[in-house]
Amino acid sequence: MQMDKPSSRVDSPFLFRYYGSIRLRLVEVVALDCIFCKIAQGSIPSNKIFENDKVVAFYDIQPAAPVHALIIPRKHIESMNDVQEEDWEDIAEIHRVAQKLAKDLGVAETGYRLVNNCGKDSGQVVFHFHFHLLGGSKLGPANSQE
Ligand code: AMP
Ligand code: ZN
Repeated sequence: MQMDKPSSRVDSPFLFRYYGSIRLRLVEVVALDCIFCKIAQGSIPSNKIFENDKVVAFYDIQPAAPVHALIIPRKHIESMNDVQEEDWEDIAEIHRVAQKLAKDLGVAETGYRLVNNCGKDSGQVVFHFHFHLLGGSKLGPANSQE
């Protein structure tokens, strides 16, 4: 009888990893090692500006503009490509918080940019979904290619 070879392809969020008797979903394993998850949980320091049950906002450690905040969902979502149907409320909340922070940080009137990098060509380096809120001076072109 011909048996299918076991697949090494990781394409299901329901794959598990076992640590002794502890079973974790793969997405939880990734989240354990995610810097933005740790910031959201408060287990590593950050300069937080705002938090509620859905989202957290903090200053970017390497600001690219006078005002540079990051707004993230508490839930570990790797990128825009990984947003699931049940996540859209969190993504909407990020926009609500961005509008509030733009006012609080004094850039609502002068203008600001909300940026989400997704994947290799965008230069995404942290694979926990986030929006950058940038403002406080005249910004460069939206598509500045290196
Ligand atoms: P992206 O290229 O969209 O993935 O941007 C990731 C952003 O996260 C960069 O602007 C980094 O400067 C910022 N960043 C990385 N680590 C930290 C940290 N520990 N605290 C605050 N911002 C961070
Ligand atoms: Zn994460």
